[in-house]
Amino acid sequence: MTDTIQEVQRTSFAAMPISEKVQRAVADQGWETPTPIQALALPELLDGEDVVGLAQTGSGKTAAFAIPLIESLDAKPRGVQALVLVPTRELAAQAATEISSLSKYNPVRPVVLCGGVGIGPQIKALRNRSTSVVVGTPGRILDHLQRGTLHLNAVRYLVLDEADRMLDMGFAPDVGRILSHTPEKERQTALFSATMPGEIRGMVKRHMRSPRYLTVKSEAPTVDTVEQVYYRMDGRDKTRALRALIDAEKDPVTIVFRRTKHGATKLHRQLEKSGYKVALLHGGKSQSQRTKTLEGFSRGRTSILVATNVASRGLDIPNVSHVFNYDLPEDTETYVHRIGRTARAGKEGVAVTLVGEAEVRDFEKIRRSLPVEVRQSRLPRSA
Ligand code: AMP
Repeated sequence: MTDTIQEVQRTSFAAMPISEKVQRAVADQGWETPTPIQALALPELLDGEDVVGLAQTGSGKTAAFAIPLIESLDAKPRGVQALVLVPTRELAAQAATEISSLSKYNPVRPVVLCGGVGIGPQIKALRNRSTSVVVGTPGRILDHLQRGTLHLNAVRYLVLDEADRMLDMGFAPDVGRILSHTPEKERQTALFSATMPGEIRGMVKRHMRSPRYLTVKSEAPTVDTVEQVYYRMDGRDKTRALRALIDAEKDPVTIVFRRTKHGATKLHRQLEKSGYKVALLHGGKSQSQRTKTLEGFSRGRTSILVATNVASRGLDIPNVSHVFNYDLPEDTETYVHRIGRTARAGKEGVAVTLVGEAEVRDFEKIRRSLPVEVRQSRLPRSA
């Protein structure tokens, strides 16, 4: 099983076997050319092949699986035909939104099944015979299967998105159980992952039929559009330094990452007290609170979002100018995902890491493993 790093031919969407309605929806998004992962995965998936895509968030992978998903649907109501499994509620919401907008001329209304919200309305939505697409997180989907409120025997198209993250979150047994409810032979499967550890290869072997391995080189957001800097300081000076750095920018839109809920809550309180328009996002919040917080931040009602790693993957909020690592990320992968929240869709962004004296060695490890230079900088005088 070898990975193939293909030379990407940048064909146009028009040259692909995509229906006129989806072509129009793509054009409405303002997309001119397919991204590299789309250029590789779309032809294969549209051709009915299984695909394993090594792709980061921000690569356009959602549309890479959403377009063939829409094209694969049979107009007759015949139960759930497509299932998208994702690790988090936020990613579920994003995938569902992308499916809806790409199918706007022939609307597909995905049912989102995630925890943290009441199960009643989900059951009601599933009773509707025209429900053909389900997007959700493994725990809640399994819950529906066990209650008998969801049937997957008609699934023809299955997506495992951010598979490495699902494994990290301990979802592997749930995913296996869910897949056993879908028809093994008639099913087309697409798996996307930012990394390809052995466990994923095992998953691919168990659940997919001779898939095409697609890898695009350096989709990592670290490469060109994110300017990366770090500052060394006494750990106790971080809040002051953060404030000084934010104040030194003109209208920054900022995500500040903290490692723990407690730390995030504390920093949020401190910044709020100092008069910043700041919001807080962590895994302990309910789904509706999280949605509201993100909406307020996307719309500019708040300009600083203090978050734990829940926000590090997949979130696509345009116009984030700065990402701050207030606490060090656990590893290089988390670093890459966090900083990928800025410089979205070709815009520029700055990623700043505040390195306390006790964190210097850990940060050096991350820094050395990155393909680009993270520049050390000096704090403004006010810090
Ligand atoms: P994703 O990796 O799926 O989270 O997508 C990242 C961002 O790229 C999203 O904002 C998409 O709307 C956008 N996008 C997806 N495909 C294209 C494309 N072909 N051209 C420009 N932007 C795109």
